[in-house]
Amino acid sequence: MIIEKIGVVGCGLMGSGIAEVAAKADFDVVVREITIELIETGRARIQKSLDRAVETEKLTAADRDGVWSRIRFSTELSALADRHLVIEAIVEEMEAKNELFSTLDALCGPETIFASNTSSLTITDMAAATQRPDRVVGLHFFNPVPVMGLVEVVRTIATSDEVFDSVFSFSEALGKKPVAAKDRSGFVVNLLLVPYLLDAIRQLERGVASVEDIDRAMTLGLGHPMGPLTLCDFVGIDTVYRISEIMFDEYREGRYAPPPLLKRIVSMGRFGRKTGKGFYDWSGDHPVPLPL
Ligand code: NAD
Repeated sequence: MIIEKIGVVGCGLMGSGIAEVAAKADFDVVVREITIELIETGRARIQKSLDRAVETEKLTAADRDGVWSRIRFSTELSALADRHLVIEAIVEEMEAKNELFSTLDALCGPETIFASNTSSLTITDMAAATQRPDRVVGLHFFNPVPVMGLVEVVRTIATSDEVFDSVFSFSEALGKKPVAAKDRSGFVVNLLLVPYLLDAIRQLERGVASVEDIDRAMTLGLGHPMGPLTLCDFVGIDTVYRISEIMFDEYREGRYAPPPLLKRIVSMGRFGRKTGKGFYDWSGDHPVPLPL
């Protein structure tokens, strides 16, 4: 099965990283965004990342130019019609993803493989929105995509062995270390990570320790690069909330249920670093824990 021409839908945080690593690995890439302005924002993000790679001597200037020669941008979905593999990295909403795949199903050739970068939604539901459920997989990258080594390659009960193996090999060709996972909400990493983050919030709610001390304990006690509450601020507290709701809906187990404090922080619009406030105030040089 040939995978040479790649389509990426969405050029936000994840889509721009996926386009960059695919072009770096010599694949021919077409990126689709909704508007010219969003294309420019995505292009600037890739440019910044590539320039940094040149500055730190991870990439030569000539290689950077080669990467640009392999990426094209379009606002038209039809620009993806000839792709061997289309990876979506659009908003985390089932309706939007199903609509996208159903439209692509009519536009792309019958051989095209569809992959979703979803963090928590069901790949099987997306596969069911197409006439090619055997050719739909999950391809879950981690942020920042050019840096993180892992990709979870997810199969549904309908994915063919040939398609799964080809996408697994494609992930290796990107220089990643893939792991195989079944289509269960959270796959491998989030299935373990989300209850951990929620438990840290529950611990805070019960008054066991302060925000700073919970983070310090997990950083120094386990050698983690950051504590769970700082990690929530990095991931986005709204995102943690949405993923936990989806996982609770899937498993109906208390460990995935969002704690009331998480809901209250989301209601206040304190989404973490991206809004300047979450468990910490990020406006100064150092994060300062906020009263809760
Ligand atoms: P983002 O908001 O940064 O980017 C999404 C982009 O998709 C936006 O630029 C938006 O304009 C574009 N878009 C929306 N609908 C589109 C369409 N129909 N066609 C083309 N473009 C469209 O979001 P993100 O953080 O890059 O997340 C994207 C996906 O990746 C989500 O499913 C998310 O769950 C998943 N994911 C995110 C992370 C993370 O750490 N942010 C990690 C792994 C997976």
